[in-house]
Amino acid sequence: MTERRTITPPHRYRNNDKAVGVGNAFWDLSERNGLAGITAELEDGEPGVLHTEDGHEFTNFTCCSYLDLDSHPKVIEGAVAALRRFGVLDHCIPRTRVQLPALPELEASLGELFGAEVVAAISAGVASAGLLPLIASGHLGNGVRPLMVFDRNCHVSMAAAKPTCADETEVVTCDHHDLGFLEDMCARYERVAYVVDGADSLGGYAPVRELAELQEKYGLLVYYDDSHSISAYGERGIGYIRSHCPVLDERTITVATLNKAFGTSGAAILLDGYPKDTLRVVERFAGALSYSQPMNTAAVGASLASAEIHRTEELTVLQRRLRANIELFDRHISTGQSGTTFPIRVVSMSDETVMEAGRRVYEAGFYVSPVFFPIVARGTAGLRVMLRAGQTEEQIRGLCAALAAVGAQQAAPAEATR
Ligand SMILES: *Cc1c(COP(=O)(O)O)cnc(C)c1O
Repeated sequence: MTERRTITPPHRYRNNDKAVGVGNAFWDLSERNGLAGITAELEDGEPGVLHTEDGHEFTNFTCCSYLDLDSHPKVIEGAVAALRRFGVLDHCIPRTRVQLPALPELEASLGELFGAEVVAAISAGVASAGLLPLIASGHLGNGVRPLMVFDRNCHVSMAAAKPTCADETEVVTCDHHDLGFLEDMCARYERVAYVVDGADSLGGYAPVRELAELQEKYGLLVYYDDSHSISAYGERGIGYIRSHCPVLDERTITVATLNKAFGTSGAAILLDGYPKDTLRVVERFAGALSYSQPMNTAAVGASLASAEIHRTEELTVLQRRLRANIELFDRHISTGQSGTTFPIRVVSMSDETVMEAGRRVYEAGFYVSPVFFPIVARGTAGLRVMLRAGQTEEQIRGLCAALAAVGAQQAAPAEATR
């Protein structure tokens, strides 16, 4: 028998040896400290409080439902009402052939709300996995195959599309918000597409105005994932990108999950200036959008209800409460994000102390998630805290006291009394 071959992986855009090797050690350690693998139920009548089977009660400070719309009675009722109205959870057949009126109704509602053409997807991850290769081949764009530039920090749901994009065009990764590099590529390539988060998961926003200049000058296409700011930010919750981006035409494509501040399930693809034919191409060829299940009836009903809330003063009230809770936290604990409008804070700790600190905070009744090397860069370890509109002043003060007790940097007294 001839010798059987061993495969040497190319690892051009992904590497599971590294990902599993690094990630598993992190998760194992988190689990051993009781900070991962937790099963808990919502406590009746106590917003954001969970209890485990063995009786531990805690307030969850690592949940991205920033406006607490996920448990809003109207959202829950919307899901139930849609199920009753359509009489089926999902009528399994590609929507390109036969679909319930539920999904087009939602797309029309979200389109009116966000002022865009909306195509729904079951998740932002699925949307990106399907859309980015279509952009790479020029089918979603102006027909020219672009150089695909992925921001180094872009969310994993986008970075995961590099290998599929690379089979359609050239793919490169640039430093975070590296406008100089982008302009250089724009000058060299007929067409460039830049893939980036609208709002970063650790705070900070995309440089929309500077990017708009490159869009105007070179026809740069920008693909924004604005999952972290939709609903939480802007009038009627249109998010950071659509609040600030001056270029709202076929050169700007935005996706956003409906699973964070919007409070439901699914995702919205926001398009402007594309002909109906292109929207059909998206439905037919954007990967799982064409061959996998769409948002189900319950998710659509919940989303219709959430969209209605977005049209009322209640959304402004919730956004204001979220802002007030962020400010309350900042008055007690100092972080690199202090003073920003973004709902996530990273309370700095050393790589050696962060796990123990997280464990003690959890024992005190608050769940925050520890991140440390090698999941994040050395020296940037910390406890990730997410603020929400529905957290009470008492819960936030309690968390801040627990954080201070494990060595979190307290805000300067001047700030504390402001
Ligand atoms: C949370 C998040 C996602 C995941 O959204 P799904 O709809 O659950 O796939 C994608 N992108 C960004 C930037 C996110 O923050």
